[in-house]
Amino acid sequence: MLLISCPNCGSRDETEFHYGGQAHVAYPENPHELTDREWAEFLFYRDNTKGSFAERWLHSTGCRQWFNMLRDTVTYDIQAVYPMGTPRPDAAGQRTADTGTASTAADSTTTGSAAPDISGTSTSATSISSTPAPEGATK
Ligand SMILES: [Zn+2]
Repeated sequence: MLLISCPNCGSRDETEFHYGGQAHVAYPENPHELTDREWAEFLFYRDNTKGSFAERWLHSTGCRQWFNMLRDTVTYDIQAVYPMGTPRPDAAGQRTADTGTASTAADSTTTGSAAPDISGTSTSATSISSTPAPEGATK
């Protein structure tokens, strides 16, 4: 059970919140210019990070406000809580990302084909608009 610190209400039990998926997934600038594959990747493809991960949360039974949270997906350690629309706090992210990659090196088979997407940092939306057909997604 997580104890999540809502920026508006303070520390509350995890059951008061709803998970909102990966944070910082930008809406495409010209969605009508995307191919079906690019649009599907924007809608459905998300990073599966082992380690520090930026995600959205909704305090559904409290203030009903969305916020971002930086959480380690291995240790469940909450590293930062920050408002929507603000950039990911890199200081904490960089430090924990180093430990995350070190731990994944031992069992890199678990990451599988998701590894190329992770190496392109967390700006998956920009990679969609710049590369017409990412090599990681073959379908
Ligand atoms: Zn709240």
